[in-house]
Amino acid sequence: MRGLMQDWPLLIHKAIDYAALQFGSREVVTRSVEGPIVRTTYGAIRGRALKGAQRLVRDGVKPGDRVATLAWNTWRHLEAWYAITGAGGVYHTVNPRLFPDQIVWIVNHAEDRVLMADLTFVPLLEKIADRLPTVERYVILTDAAHMPATGLRGAVDYESWIASADGDFRWVEVDERDAAGLCYTSGTTGDPKGVLYSHRSNLLHSLGCNTPDGLAIAARDAVLPVVPLFHANSWSLAFTCPMVGAKLVLPGSKLDGASLHELFETEEVTFTAGVPTVWIGLLAHMRSRGARFSTLKRLFVGGSAFPASLIAAFETEFGLSVSHAWGMTEMSPIGTFGAMKPAFASLSGEALWARKALQGYAPFGVDIKIVGDDGKPMPWDGAAFGRLLVAGFAVTKGYFKGAGGDVLDADGFFDTGDVATIDPDGYVRITDRSKDVIKSGGEWISSIDVENAAVGCPGVVEAAVIGVAHPKWTERPLLIVVPDKAKPPTREAVLDHLRPRIAKWWLPDDVQFVDEIPHTATGKISKLTLRERFKDYRLPG
Ligand code: AMP
Repeated sequence: MRGLMQDWPLLIHKAIDYAALQFGSREVVTRSVEGPIVRTTYGAIRGRALKGAQRLVRDGVKPGDRVATLAWNTWRHLEAWYAITGAGGVYHTVNPRLFPDQIVWIVNHAEDRVLMADLTFVPLLEKIADRLPTVERYVILTDAAHMPATGLRGAVDYESWIASADGDFRWVEVDERDAAGLCYTSGTTGDPKGVLYSHRSNLLHSLGCNTPDGLAIAARDAVLPVVPLFHANSWSLAFTCPMVGAKLVLPGSKLDGASLHELFETEEVTFTAGVPTVWIGLLAHMRSRGARFSTLKRLFVGGSAFPASLIAAFETEFGLSVSHAWGMTEMSPIGTFGAMKPAFASLSGEALWARKALQGYAPFGVDIKIVGDDGKPMPWDGAAFGRLLVAGFAVTKGYFKGAGGDVLDADGFFDTGDVATIDPDGYVRITDRSKDVIKSGGEWISSIDVENAAVGCPGVVEAAVIGVAHPKWTERPLLIVVPDKAKPPTREAVLDHLRPRIAKWWLPDDVQFVDEIPHTATGKISKLTLRERFKDYRLPG
C-alpha cells in the first residue's frame, strides 16, 4: 500500500519562492564587479529571475539545455541560477581560473547554448569565442552603462536583456529528478568530467547539510560564501540561505583578506565558508593590522586539509568557532562535518583542535566506507588506510555523457579517489589523494599529516609533501616549504619540529624552500606541478 502524502516536488525554484514569500525584504548584498556595493532582496531576486527565465525561454532555451555562467559570486549570478533552472535549463558553472583551452573544452562538451559572463571575462571570451560554436548568445552580467563594445555573438547586457521581459511567467515545469546544474571536475589527469546535479539532489543536499551539527544556518545569520558558485555548487549556500531566510553577502571578485574583512564588518556577517588558502590570507591580514571581528562567529573550511595550528589561531586569537568539512564536486559537495559528537563536547585546547583537524563524520544521507585494494571493507580503527567510498542522495552515479563509464561498485558506492582512515567514533581522516600517496617500504605515508604538522612550525607559511624515488624504499617524502620571509626557519628547525609529531619513518628526507607553492584552479596544492618541478631532484645521500 502506498502512502497518501503529497509528492511535493523538490525543485530549485521552491527555494526562491519561499524566500520571496517569507523573507521578501531580507537583503542580498554584493561587492559588485563594477565596484560599488549593491543591495537587493530575495523578493527582488525572484522577480528578476522570473524575467530571466522568461527571456531564456523566448531565446529558445528548452528543458535540459545548458546555460553556462562564468562569473563571481554576485546577485546577478544568483538570479541567473534561478532563471536558468526556472526555464527548465541546466546552470553550467565554468571555473574562470581554468586555462582558456580547458574552458573551450568544457563549454563544447556541455554544448552550452547561452553563456552568461561577468565583465571581467569579456576579453577572455573574445579570444576563444570562435572556438565555441554552440554558444548562440552571450549575456554580460552588467548594465547598459558598463557594457563594453564587443563582437561576441548576440552580446547583450543582462539588465537590458531582462528588462525586455515583463515577468508575467510561471516556472517551467520539470521533474525533481531532472538535471539542474553541471560542474566539471578539475581532472588532473585525462579530460574533465561533468557532474550533473538534479533539482532533488540539490535541495536534499541543502536540507541534509543545514542541520544543527552541520552548517546550522538560521534566518538571523548573515552568510558570506567565499566558496564560489563556480566551484562545487558553492556548498549549496545559494539554496540553503534562501531556504532559511539568511542574509547573503556576496564578495564579487575581491577575495583578499582586507576586502573580506571589510565586508564581514560592514555587513555584520556571522557565518562564512571558504578554502584554506583564502583563510591563510585573511589570517595574515588580521595579524598584520591587529584587526578584530565584531560579528563573525563561525568559519567553515574545506576543499583541502586545514591544520590544527590554523584552527587554533582563528579560535584563540580571533574568537571564532572553526569547522572543518570535507567533500567533493561529485558529492554536491559536502561529505563530512567536523562537529563534536557528545563524547567530545568537553574537549578543549590541543585535544579539541586535533579533533577539529580531522575531516569529521558523515551526516545523515551520506554512507561511507573504506576499502582495501581488494575492495573489501577495512576496519574503523583510526589506523587502517583505505580508499574512501561514498553513497547518498546527493552523490553522483555517473558522469555527464557517460564519461569514465560505470563509476559505482557492486553496492552502489562511488570511489572518491581519497585515501582515509575512519576511527571508532566515525571520524574520517583524509590522508591523501590516492594518486598522491607516498609508498615507502611497502607502507603508506600520509602527506597531509606531515604537511599539517609542518605548518605548525614557526616560520612555515605553507607546506607540501611529495614522494621522491628512492633505491631502497621505493619512495621517500620530500617536504617543500614556503618560509615566512620575516623569520625563515632552518631545515633543521623544521625537522626538529616534526620529530615528536609524526612517526619516525615518516620524517621527510629533506626540506626544500620555495617562494611559492603552485595551486590548482580550485585552490588545492598542485602536487602534479610540484612532482614535475622536482623531477630531477635527488635526495641527499
Ligand atoms: P573538488 O571536487 O575540486 O572540490 O575536490 C575534492 C577533493 O578535495 C577531495 O576529494 C579531497 O581530496 C579534497 N578535499 C576536500 N575537502 C578536504 C578536506 N577538508 N581535507 C582534505 N582534503 C579535502
